[in-house]
Formats: sequence, C-alpha cells, structure tokens
Amino acid sequence: MYLNIEEIRKDFPILSQKVYGNPLVYLDNGATTQKPYQVIRKMEEVYSTINANIHRGVHHLSQLATESHENARKTVQKYLNACNSNEIIFTRGTTESINLIASSFCRSQCRPGDEIIITSMEHHSNIVPWQLQKDITGIELKIIPVNEKGEISLENLEKQITSKTKLISLVHVSNVLGTINPVAKVIQLAHQHDVPVLIDAAQSVQHISVDVQALECDFLVFSSHKIYGPTGIGVLYGKEKWLDKLPPYQGGGEMIASVSFEKTTYNSLPFKFEAGTPDYVGSTALAEALNYINTLGLENINQYENELLTYATGKLMQIDGMKIFGTSSLKSSVISFLVGDIHHYDMGMLLDRMGIAVRTGHHCAQPLMEILGVEGTVRASFAFYNTKEEIDFLAESIKKVAKMFHVTTISKYR
Ligand code: PMP
Repeated sequence: MYLNIEEIRKDFPILSQKVYGNPLVYLDNGATTQKPYQVIRKMEEVYSTINANIHRGVHHLSQLATESHENARKTVQKYLNACNSNEIIFTRGTTESINLIASSFCRSQCRPGDEIIITSMEHHSNIVPWQLQKDITGIELKIIPVNEKGEISLENLEKQITSKTKLISLVHVSNVLGTINPVAKVIQLAHQHDVPVLIDAAQSVQHISVDVQALECDFLVFSSHKIYGPTGIGVLYGKEKWLDKLPPYQGGGEMIASVSFEKTTYNSLPFKFEAGTPDYVGSTALAEALNYINTLGLENINQYENELLTYATGKLMQIDGMKIFGTSSLKSSVISFLVGDIHHYDMGMLLDRMGIAVRTGHHCAQPLMEILGVEGTVRASFAFYNTKEEIDFLAESIKKVAKMFHVTTISKYR
C-alpha cells in the first residue's frame, strides 16, 4: 500500500520546526524517533483522566489505570506474536532489559568459566552488562568477528560454541552498519547446541516484522522511544520457561507474593520482574505507538524505508570521497559514512547549521569503531516520515561541506 507521507508528517508536530531558519531534516531516528500526536495525547489523556497507582487500589481510577497497563502488555504481546502476555516484562528500555537478563541469567545459570557469545557489532549495552558479570560470576565473553561488509558468518559462530556456551546475545539490526543479522539461522544453530539466544531488537522492531514464536528466540528486547513511543520504558520478552526459571533482578513492591523477615516469596510472571510502581503512562503510550504503526502497516513502512535506503545510498555514493561503512546486502535504513578527511564532528556540526540532524561519534560501539579503523562516523538513519527531497538536501549539503574542506576524488577513501 502507498503511504501518504505528506499526511503522515502532519501527525508529528516536531517535524514542522525550523532549525537555524531552515526546515528541520530529522535523520537521527536510530538514536530516537519523533512522536505522533496520538502518542503525545495519550499521555495527556492518562494523566488527566485515569491516573492512579496500579495493581494495588480497589478504587475506580486504580482499576482503570491497571486495565490500561495490562492492555498495553497485550498489545506488545500481539505485536511480537508472543504466546502469553506473561512473557512481556516492562523495563526502562533495551539497556535495562539486557542488564536484567545478564544479571539473573549469569547468577543462576552460569559457573566460572562458562561462556557468553556476542558479536563485534554490539552496542555497549550488549557488551558492558556481560563484562560486569564477568567480574561478578566469572563468565567468559567470546566475540564473533564481522567481515568488511559488516556481516557475521554462521561458520564463525559455530566454531565459537562449546560445551561451556550458556547464551548467545546479538543485535538484530546494527545501529552503526544497518546490517540485518540472520537471527533465525543463529537461533536454529544455537538450539541445535541447546544454547538460548537473546536478540537486541532496539533497531529492528520499528522497521521489520518480528515474530518471537516463528523465530523461537528465548529473549528479545527493545526500547519504546525508538519505536515512536515515549522515553523511559522498554520491553523484555522472554519465553515463559526461562522467565520462570530466572531469579528476580530487583526487589521491592509488586514483585513479591509475601514478605516476612524470615522468608520472602516472589510474585508470578510478569510481576516478579517489575519491582516498584510500573510506568503505566509509558506502557499505555507505547501501546498507542504500536497501534499507530499497525495502522500504517509494518510491511508498508518496510517497503518505503527500503526505497529511502536505496535512494540515499545511490545519492551519497555519487559524492567524491564518500565512504559508507556497512555494505551488507541485507540492510535496514541506516547509513554510516565519512567523506575524505573531514572529521565526523565537523560534518555533523555543519549539517546541523543547515537544519539536518544526524548522529556523529562512535554510536556507543567503540569496539566496532576500532575494527573499522575510525574514531567515529556520521550516521543518517531514516524513518517512514522522511522523504526523498530530504535525502536530496542531505546529499547537496554534504557536497557543500566537502567543498569547504576541498575534498577531491583522490581523497583518503577512493
Ligand atoms: N542496542 C542498540 C542496537 C541500540 O541502537 C541502542 C540505542 N542506540 C541500544 C541498544 C540501547 O538502547 P537504550 O539506550 O534505549 O536502552
């Protein structure tokens, strides 16, 4: 189906802003996405009509707020096609979800010397939680390399799996390279060795359809703010058999069945992992964001964003001195690049003056930067509200910056 981008853009109030007198061209969607009125208004609606603490009160408002939070859980369950809404845990985001699993899983399932496998294209949030566990529980971290196109190989993965491998944790779509990893095949291979898999879907759920039952993944995590929902809330999906087995991550209200000074017992799923007052406003607004995506149709979004990616890649490749990092044949709408010797920070600052928001730096993936041999890159990441005209403007603006820096065809990268 054809998406009416002009109409869609009207749903996003921030997009009509000017920056330094120029129309805002927002190409930092990998960092966070903008919010439609539907989501913004939903938050206002919750605070102005049903706000009350949930799960505890017998009063009317508390029941409405509880219903809203639990309905949101069902919306997420449907979005991921999970078996049961018990398998959906609300967290603060991708980072907290991975920390939860790293802590609960390593504490209960690993002994010193056991191995966790990740890839070298992981975001820091899928590296550091495991390093913390290395210090606490004595696990070892093994890393799958990426090739020059920004892909991992299943052969390399299989070589790393041993009898000590306890979990594989990998990113679905790289926030730097845009690579779509073959997660279905990874999971299949891992399960042949009885190894569970965690998928970091922070950069995938907003672009491509993710069906946790079809994938058979054991854990999957994402952040609401990258999928047009509010900040401060995210999701951990876990197979019930795993979540039942794992100990709580944090202690407090909500997560208990009974408490005494002698013995405390824990609540059932999903509450066992939701200590404290949950973000019921955030969950309700996240559900609204997922409804918004469902109305547009993820297939339509995917098709349009692929068009943008192909168009942008073609346009940027025509620029002298352009080097694109991440050239996998299976890519999502992210382009990381450098032009000649221009520092990524200079490029980002000058584009900003023209109204273009791009990301610069190491993108929380310093080990990957080291492999790529750069300190940082410029990253343009697209959403369905972006247009080909914006990409034309990006390409023209990059050329202007290149001209300022006297980049020629014989620059560093050609
Ligand atoms: N993983 C990936 C692939 C990401 O792109 C990000 C955010 N840039 C994260 C994890 C962390 O997400 P958050 O900061 O929302 O927890």
